[in-house]
Amino acid sequence: MTAPLPSGAGVAALDRAGLEDWLARRGEARFRASQIVRWLYARGVATYDEMTDLPAALRGALAEELPLTPLVLEHRAVSRIDDTRRYLWRLADGATVESVGLPAGDRLTVCFSTQAGCAMGCSFCATGQGGLSRDLGPGEMAEQVRRVGEDFGRRVTNAVAMGQGEPFANYDATLGALRLMNDPDGLGIGARHLTVSTCGIVAGIERFAAEPEQFTLAVSLHSAVQETRDRLMPGVRTQTVSRLRAALASYAAATGRRPSVEFALIAGVNDTPAEVDALVRFCTGLLVHVNLIPVNPVPGADATRPDAAARVRDALVGAGVEATVRAERGVDIEAACGQLTQRHAAGEA
Ligand code: SAH
Ligand code: SF4
Repeated sequence: MTAPLPSGAGVAALDRAGLEDWLARRGEARFRASQIVRWLYARGVATYDEMTDLPAALRGALAEELPLTPLVLEHRAVSRIDDTRRYLWRLADGATVESVGLPAGDRLTVCFSTQAGCAMGCSFCATGQGGLSRDLGPGEMAEQVRRVGEDFGRRVTNAVAMGQGEPFANYDATLGALRLMNDPDGLGIGARHLTVSTCGIVAGIERFAAEPEQFTLAVSLHSAVQETRDRLMPGVRTQTVSRLRAALASYAAATGRRPSVEFALIAGVNDTPAEVDALVRFCTGLLVHVNLIPVNPVPGADATRPDAAARVRDALVGAGVEATVRAERGVDIEAACGQLTQRHAAGEA
């Protein structure tokens, strides 16, 4: 399911544990990992030469074996409406990914990508239309978050794996990235403020429930009717609605935390009375919060926006299900969920 990282990904292919292993193999002290993580993700240096508290021999070995290649900013768009910012980065091997920065009051949330492209093929999603190029390494994810914070000149308070890619199809690297973001030597973001959004890979949800940190989970449901979901999200046909519901119940029982259920409303497809009834049945008895998102139109995808968000919310709340309509951000720069593509790279925009 996962595509290998290119060997040229260098230090960005490693999480802290990987860095500690590399250091241990060279007989270096463990505290060197703290120093390196601090230089990379708290201070953000572009070369090993700037890591002045490391011995020169170690700096030389790092440069040779774990090259440090900063993300190259290819494109940046700033919303005139709400200062939402969208970024297209070029990675060391030429692959491109996007991130979004969402300022709101004293919070700055960064939406980061976990893969270049995505193999899941969801019909309403721009990323899904292009297929998977490759997995990202932990450092490539943490670095997106750091760079967006740097661009805003503010501390990042929240990060969500809701950019391109399916995080649980790249589980280990995503967890390594969350840990670099959570690490006091790294970005220092509280675990509860780090969220993974999955299209519903059950084994990933089960693993995530058992992680020691209190990371937050979001699950993209989009329909509680199996046939509708199969059409919208062909990549997760085997992760049936009933298995998904059971996984969410176990997750809540194991963690005591409330996951969110993402539901992009598509007129005439998943906003009908039968669909809303199925959604109510899915949520009843589960500890969840439903986020209703009017679907963002994507060229080539057959999805139109319903005016039904408030109606569906009222139906859910009336049935005792916690639900809100998610505020739209950055509409003038197409920064919303599902609109991230690699088309800037292809020179089409
Ligand atoms: N692959 C993961 C995370 C990235 S997608 C997942 O699917 O959850 C982030 C969110 O954007 C998901 O909830 C996804 O379903 C949603 N999304 C994708 N395309 C969208 C669109 N056109 N309009 C609204 N939401 C969309
Ligand atoms: Fe992949 Fe998520 Fe898009 Fe589906 S919605 S194609 S899982 S990025």
